[in-house]
Amino acid sequence: MVYLNGQYMPIAEARISPMDRGFLFGDGAFELIPVYSRRPFRPLEHLGRLAHTLEGMRLANPLSLPQWQAVIERIVAGNPGEDQSIYIQVTRGADVKRDHPFPKGVPPTVFVMSAPLVTVAPDLLQTGVACVCAADNRWLRCNLKTVSLLANVLLRQEAVDAGCTETILFRDGFLSEGSASNIFIVRNGLLMLPGITYDVVLELAQKHGLSYEVRDILEAEVRAADEIWMTSSTKEVLPVTTLDGRPVGKGKPGPLAIAMYGWYQAFKRTVMRGAQ
Ligand code: PLP
Repeated sequence: MVYLNGQYMPIAEARISPMDRGFLFGDGAFELIPVYSRRPFRPLEHLGRLAHTLEGMRLANPLSLPQWQAVIERIVAGNPGEDQSIYIQVTRGADVKRDHPFPKGVPPTVFVMSAPLVTVAPDLLQTGVACVCAADNRWLRCNLKTVSLLANVLLRQEAVDAGCTETILFRDGFLSEGSASNIFIVRNGLLMLPGITYDVVLELAQKHGLSYEVRDILEAEVRAADEIWMTSSTKEVLPVTTLDGRPVGKGKPGPLAIAMYGWYQAFKRTVMRGAQ
């Protein structure tokens, strides 16, 4: 079951116009909320980030916070699976003509769907994964989660074409992030992450007394790292053991990655799933 413009329906019945500005211009926002044991994880933070994206694209938030929460609750209840990934998309709607400026009096398109939340198999922790590097040629406002993701798609495909898992991006000689993940590095026992962080991993580092720095990280520091980790809701904490065909550190998942993975799994059980 999906939600489209005020109605709940099976996905096969959901229809939008080809004049939708999300389709024509990529003129839309999205957000993804992970759900564990049917409990959305940090929905207020995600809805806050959606509000931030909408503000950045100068589109009024179509729903109030309680309305968003009610839609999410109903979509979670109406779909199978204990763990789900709730995808929200809001576009600037469908006008009668294709014209760049904002249309007048056109309602936004609001869409919410659920997909199974598929995380990586634990045995990948034994080997880690391989990544390639590329220049970050995305637009400059990556803090907004817009559906204009062509650059991310092309960058991610570079990893797939090379038989790798992810493309790690650099801009002006500094680490930015992965094409669809955040990147952490460890050097001399110190965890380092660029400005964009994955909050849970940072909180767990704090809780377990791991020293860390949030600062700009040079490409040379990434290439000389003892450990590189990739994180996202679905990748969780995934060690990168090969970068551009060369081993990272000893070429095996490092001790801090293994520790963080364990802390993350415990956090998932106790906090995300709400088990005791
Ligand atoms: N950075 C980018 C560009 C992404 O697309 C994603 C997720 O898809 C992330 C980071 C990780 O975000 P999260 O930790 O919320 O899954």
